[in-house]
Amino acid sequence: MTLHADYDPDNIFAKILRGEIPCIKVYEDDVALSFMDVFPQSEGHTLVIPKRANARNFLDMPGNELGSYMQRVQKIARAVEAGLQPDGLVVTQFNGAPAGQTVFHLHFHIIPRWEGEALGRHAGGGMASAETLEPVAARIRAKL
Ligand code: 5GP
Repeated sequence: MTLHADYDPDNIFAKILRGEIPCIKVYEDDVALSFMDVFPQSEGHTLVIPKRANARNFLDMPGNELGSYMQRVQKIARAVEAGLQPDGLVVTQFNGAPAGQTVFHLHFHIIPRWEGEALGRHAGGGMASAETLEPVAARIRAKL
């Protein structure tokens, strides 16, 4: 029942939120943190997580906090589009392990797509270096 379990405060995104694990940051305010996915499915694969510490998935998020969080998701999606100029953009999230979720702190994926370029495997491709991710993040940040 990965859809309905207690929030694990030691999940990897909680550690990133607490600054215990580094990330290539794109944006941060009191509502959300955005950073580069370290196993990107395409160049510019970005994640947006709510700062609220105990929402494992979309179903857990209180409705009255969803609007401000989704505004951040859209804000980052617009910056990814403006900074990287992809042909398309996937905005998605997974709820529960059978649906594909691997980290149990709510997050939206923003995945740029280019015509003719295949999508990398979800949470299973190669790990990108900070040197690779940082200049991409800088292009996104420049449009925020
Ligand atoms: P999910 O599978 O839960 O929808 O997405 C989790 C995402 O987090 C995956 O796309 C995976 O590549 C990414 N991820 C896993 N561990 C780390 C990490 O330590 N740092 C970053 N930046 N991303 C991670």
